[in-house]
Amino acid sequence: MIPITKPTLPNHEELKEDFKSIIDSGMITNAKYVKEFEKKAAEYFGTENTTALSSCTAGLIFAQKLLKLKGEVITPSFTFHATTHSLIWNNIKPVFVDIDENYYYIDPEKVKEAITSKTSAILAVHIFGHPASIKELQEIAEDHKLKLIFDAAHAFGSKIDNKPIGSFGDAEVFSLSPTKLITTGEGGLISSNNEELLKTTKIARNYGDTGEGNSLFSGFNSRMSEFHAALGLKTLEKLDKNVEKRNELAQQYKKRLSSLGVKFQKISNNVRTTFKDFSLEIDPEEVGITSEKLCEELKKQKIISRKYFYPPVHKQKAFQEFKEVKLPITEKISSNILSLPLYSHMKKEEVEEVCSATSKIIQENARR
Ligand SMILES: *Cc1c(COP(=O)(O)O)cnc(C)c1O
Repeated sequence: MIPITKPTLPNHEELKEDFKSIIDSGMITNAKYVKEFEKKAAEYFGTENTTALSSCTAGLIFAQKLLKLKGEVITPSFTFHATTHSLIWNNIKPVFVDIDENYYYIDPEKVKEAITSKTSAILAVHIFGHPASIKELQEIAEDHKLKLIFDAAHAFGSKIDNKPIGSFGDAEVFSLSPTKLITTGEGGLISSNNEELLKTTKIARNYGDTGEGNSLFSGFNSRMSEFHAALGLKTLEKLDKNVEKRNELAQQYKKRLSSLGVKFQKISNNVRTTFKDFSLEIDPEEVGITSEKLCEELKKQKIISRKYFYPPVHKQKAFQEFKEVKLPITEKISSNILSLPLYSHMKKEEVEEVCSATSKIIQENARR
């Protein structure tokens, strides 16, 4: 079987020393390794500091709460639903706007049109690792005195104009869950140039308590354990190599599949994407098959593909009240999308196997 993705992990031997040292010290959560991981991540981003957490969702919730977001926040619907859940947990109304049909990121023109007197922020996503249109969003945020937060769950290792994602907007929030490029098993990370925000998120992850038992505000436990941080430090060492590897594999996919009438997410030439996911856009009129059917047929050959992201958030059961919102590009791309298997240690032969199965299925369908 070829899975849709799997984590690229160090050999367990490489972690033996670290795990022994953690156990011997008796300090198993939020101690030396977590501090070291936060420091190494900040070095990578070119920031002063970061805050490690138990998830990206926790990071998004804290960043919004501590930056005092309220009212409405402008955000895409073409994303993983956790982006939106974080707003709901803060009693904020998501205002969904459509995406760019080539890059799949939130369309800055549509963001402008959606601003009202109640808007407090823009929550954008670096979708599949492709940086959002950061410069335009920064200008809009400045002009309208809005906060700007990036859900950077896919973008640990992404760059724009040679600068790593991690230092833009008011905060960037990363995920370290198993499907992401660098993983701690479960985990999240906030990066920001706002020292005060990083300080308060470190209190928030400890119930809003600095350690004196006299809590300052309501947080919740979202600390990272030392074991998780040790794993994160090891996967961080391999990050750049893995990003390059994925870019090579994505190129291989594109070369082999471009003649089939499928479309790919456009990659701007001033960015490096992580290819957190590699997706095909399959217009059934053009290609002669639906993305669902291709997914089914691939599965028969033990190749697992997934529709990331379908349904779009505003069409999901949890978001019934938004189902009438009209987002034609989001709906079209979401309905045509199909992500193919990709992981950092995937072999060229495996990519070839997926390509050859995909080509065959599409060609056979077209002939019928
Ligand atoms: C994975 C993901 C999240 C959630 O990350 P967790 O660490 O599981 O909380 C949020 N947003 C996007 C876009 C994601 O892909």
